[in-house]
Amino acid sequence: MNYTVKGAGRNRKVAFTCPTCGAAIESPLSDAGQNFPCPTCGRDFVTPGIPELEQSRREEAAQVAAQVRAQKIREHEAAERRARDAQEARDREEQLVKAAERAKTQTPLPQAQLARPPDRSISQAAFAVVLLLVVVAGYGAVVRTMQSKLDRLESRLNELTKTVDRNATDLESLRLTVNRNAGALNSLTDTVNYNADAANRNNRLR
Ligand SMILES: [Zn+2]
Repeated sequence: MNYTVKGAGRNRKVAFTCPTCGAAIESPLSDAGQNFPCPTCGRDFVTPGIPELEQSRREEAAQVAAQVRAQKIREHEAAERRARDAQEARDREEQLVKAAERAKTQTPLPQAQLARPPDRSISQAAFAVVLLLVVVAGYGAVVRTMQSKLDRLESRLNELTKTVDRNATDLESLRLTVNRNAGALNSLTDTVNYNADAANRNNRLR
């Protein structure tokens, strides 16, 4: 029987003609080797393509085997990595223990060898602290000086305010005195005028 295989992977199809009536038929390649009735004439036929189906199953199996091998290799590498990390951790721990033991058993060095040059960083830190204290103290002195100046100015202002109030009071009493004197002057003027009139009348009578 003539047939052709089309497509790729799991979607491969086999195309052929019914051996009884010649109708064109297309089946999944996975049906190869199985009996089916022809949809046109109803007579059974065997789906062709068995070698291709077997080949495709071999390829699939090889693919799965390759995936399994790759997975095993990855797992093996991961296990080796873990073992290496664990060994490195043990080595480090061992070195620390040895270093601690060496430190315990070593005799102390003579004092001359232990003597080190003065620690520059500490003196620099002390200098910075002193500088900071000086700055803070200077700032405090400036603030105190300004505050006392301010206090003096405030008391001077209070004195000036009192003087102004006193002068205002004096001015008011002066104004009252002037008013009183003006009143007295008016009545004096009236009296003078009256006397002048009286003198004029006496002169006319003579
Ligand atoms: Zn047929």
